[in-house]
Amino acid sequence: MVKAVYPGSFDPVTLGHLDIIRRASGLVDELIIGILVNKNKHPLFSKQERYEMLADAVKDLPNVRIETFDGLVVDFAVAHEARIIIRGLRAVTDYEIEMQTAQTNRTIRPEVETMFLITSLEYAFLSSTVVKEIASFEGDISHYVTPLVAEKMRQRFATKIQAKPPVGNIAGGIIKC
Ligand code: ADP
Repeated sequence: MVKAVYPGSFDPVTLGHLDIIRRASGLVDELIIGILVNKNKHPLFSKQERYEMLADAVKDLPNVRIETFDGLVVDFAVAHEARIIIRGLRAVTDYEIEMQTAQTNRTIRPEVETMFLITSLEYAFLSSTVVKEIASFEGDISHYVTPLVAEKMRQRFATKIQAKPPVGNIAGGIIKC
């Protein structure tokens, strides 16, 4: 039985993540998605919300399940008897950091291998950060996320925009010039 874990923040899950999940789930018997819950980070969505959006997105994939975790990815893998960590690679910038992380993980747990899947071209630019940026300006994100995520994002940013005082702006992002 070959098991793999696919860790990430998934704040929120995008079609880029889903592409990796679908492809990875076809390579292993069981794929365990690990939602990283880092107390020092301030995600847009709670772990419960991220879980629900992921669960909806993978409902047609029977060999995929979702867990949350806090701590080292290798420990998460070992706890679930998985010998493979799946990571997605988009660009050279991903490569540098991923290489360092994978090497560090190997020194901690040599029995756990990291496997990289190269992004499909249409998602090469896509990240949760980009999606949040577009949604914060009420842009159309329907090509980048599932309908449920698009709706949750719309609600979240509608609340945020309403809550803002009338002066000031939300500039300074990576999309707005
Ligand atoms: P992000 O980088 O979008 O904030 P995560 O921290 O949740 O996402 O990333 C989890 C994993 O998914 C990482 O290995 C990351 O490289 C990969 N990933 C994220 N977006 C894509 C994409 N568009 N194509 C391929 N892999 C991706």
